[in-house]
Amino acid sequence: MTKPAAAAARATVHGYPRQGPNRELKKAVEGYWKGTVTADALAGTAAELRRANWRELARAGVHEVPTGDFSYYDHVLDTTVMVGAIPERHRAAVAADALDGYFAMARGTQDVAPLEMTKWFDTNYHYLVPELGPDTVFTADCAKQTGELREALALGPAARPVLVGPVTYLLLAKPAPGAAADFEPLTLLDRLLPVYAEVLADLRAAGAEWVQLDEPALVQDRTPAELNAAARAYGNLGGLADRPKLLVASYFGRLGEALPVLAESPVDGLALDFTGAAAANLEGLAAVGGLPGRRLVAGVVDGRNIWLNDHEKSLATLGTLLGLADRVDVSASCSLLHVPLDAAAETDVDPQILRWLAFARQKTREIVTLARGLAEGVGSVAAELAANRADLASRADSSLTGDPAVRARAGAVTDADARRSQPYAERTAAQRAHLKLPPLPTTTIGSFPQTTGLRTARAGLRAGRIDAAGYQEHIRAAIQEAISFQEEAGIDVLVHGEPERNDMVQYFAEQLSGYVATRHGWVQSYGTRYVRPPVLVGDVSRPAPMTVGWTRYAQSLTDRPVKGMLTGPVTMLAWSFVRDDQPLNETARQVALALRDEVQDLEASGASVIQVDEPALRETLPLRSADHAGYLAWATESFRLTTSGVRPDTQIHTHMCYAEFGDVVQAIDDLDADVISLEAARSHMQVARELAAHGYPREAGPGVYDIHSPRVPSAEEAAALLREGLEAIPAERLWVNPDCGLKTRGWPETKASLENLVAAARTVRGEL
Ligand code: GLN
Ligand code: ZN
Repeated sequence: MTKPAAAAARATVHGYPRQGPNRELKKAVEGYWKGTVTADALAGTAAELRRANWRELARAGVHEVPTGDFSYYDHVLDTTVMVGAIPERHRAAVAADALDGYFAMARGTQDVAPLEMTKWFDTNYHYLVPELGPDTVFTADCAKQTGELREALALGPAARPVLVGPVTYLLLAKPAPGAAADFEPLTLLDRLLPVYAEVLADLRAAGAEWVQLDEPALVQDRTPAELNAAARAYGNLGGLADRPKLLVASYFGRLGEALPVLAESPVDGLALDFTGAAAANLEGLAAVGGLPGRRLVAGVVDGRNIWLNDHEKSLATLGTLLGLADRVDVSASCSLLHVPLDAAAETDVDPQILRWLAFARQKTREIVTLARGLAEGVGSVAAELAANRADLASRADSSLTGDPAVRARAGAVTDADARRSQPYAERTAAQRAHLKLPPLPTTTIGSFPQTTGLRTARAGLRAGRIDAAGYQEHIRAAIQEAISFQEEAGIDVLVHGEPERNDMVQYFAEQLSGYVATRHGWVQSYGTRYVRPPVLVGDVSRPAPMTVGWTRYAQSLTDRPVKGMLTGPVTMLAWSFVRDDQPLNETARQVALALRDEVQDLEASGASVIQVDEPALRETLPLRSADHAGYLAWATESFRLTTSGVRPDTQIHTHMCYAEFGDVVQAIDDLDADVISLEAARSHMQVARELAAHGYPREAGPGVYDIHSPRVPSAEEAAALLREGLEAIPAERLWVNPDCGLKTRGWPETKASLENLVAAARTVRGEL
């Protein structure tokens, strides 16, 4: 039945989790930083982890394994090293010791600042931003790439080096310090291409038949000049005489206008995402007449989410693709870096639910099954297809995913439910009368230091070393400490300090029905930091209040207002694995309704200020601007649904951080919160000017204390920032607060910094 071309169908992946089954890489790297692991031991652990991955992939039936996707810290930083774009300030450290210099770029040292870190497209992985300027000189350093390729080839399987492509690399870069702010790194393309040519030649010499160049930046909106740069890049690299075959990969979405550019370039194959909305790549490919004579790597298994694949659907897609390319191979939509390693390790998850989960190991098997089905006919994988069908059916029919009461409530939501009963201008007067705060009121973002004592208590509770009552004693003591310090320091709106929270999403996920937590589902966030996103499995509801007891306890200790503190619906989705069996906006609405009940219970228990954090609002903004409006509509609606059920005199705060807010100021306004706190200290209150330029009418607290470092800002420094803030936001609408929560800080610097912050507020009040 299958066409002759299909007989060649192979299984591959773009990349694999780096950390090892027990996060061995994290432990080795952190041990190296502490001086307890030698450089040789670290290198040995890393090489063993790479070999274990290749063996595992080959044994599972993957025909061509990726190389070079491994990293001690980040693959974009590895690319910076590969092209020799070491910032001036790090050169001495790199020259003295390549490994220490590498970590200095990643983390900074006493003397030099690290590279900036930011999100890898719309994932929760962070990369280190290359710093490039007109003086940047690129030089090829292929050692890591050729070394890892040789290691893999020595084990036997076919291996394909994976590089960040030159266009994406430049588009991810920012102007180096000293370069003009409007310097465009993409203008360095002609200087960079010869370095890529050298790397490609070296990889060819080291035995690479194929090399993959990742160009995910091409799934974003690109100008004609940028598309032209992509055409030049691949015209140039494709035209090289001494080169391996080139596979250009894109993922995280549809290529759109970049697809014809790549299809027309003289490269030997494309890897495309065909999952979710990226299924539009199928029509795009057909429209350019396919890839006759070339290789297509079809990303049909979702590399970013953790759900079981739908094999029949994938095989149908693959069947269509067979008519469009010379050879069709099967892969995940993107690197499996973004999912945990092994669902089979989740022994605590209900076996009913476990059947629906596929982490990297399970996805690899799915890919192999699909490749076999494509190459040898579906009969050859009949048993796998039957099992897949049964697993999918068990999910579709499960009472674990559907809750009629939740659906009925979500279906009955009206526009009015997502609107406060009074407009901002009216309710702000009621809030002033009720709260009686001084001008420039002081507050914090929520968390106070998570001490070793707290973490030990939590681990003790999990391990059964202390009981629930003993644990609660620890939490109560931490709340007392936070409240008494804030009173002494003279802060106006207090917080309980969040000592009971392991994580701002997980804490709520553990208490909401419809969410499942994993024990080993670690995913790299940045460097050696891993997170365990909970899984949204079914309809969401709140069996019981989640925060009311601790907030009420904190309020009982003071006469000043204590802010209730919740994580908002958008962030609850952004930092979880979301359902793929219903639209995101429906899941968001369910979460919002559950949180709305919590908001109302907080109010009923006496809270007059309630903060709903949405730090992820900006980061899940879709990659294409055409998709922004739809996303922002449901995102802001779900926030308002969470917060609109309260009395006019109850003050709703929100908080955001880690982002440039410029393109979401309207959305921030649409949240209709009464007060927003934002990260601003490092950017000298830039966000305050952005809000003012927009005509933002509400109260705002641009941060005057950069909480990302242990450094204590002086009262003068905080006052200077406040005065800058006052130039943009009038005194009756300006709040005084840190950039973000204080959970990663120690008590001594927290106390000193907040005392200075209060002193600054008092000084500047005196100047009004
Ligand atoms: N309330 C949270 C805290 O203070 C907010 C954290 C965040 O914005 N990431 O920790
Ligand atoms: Zn924050």
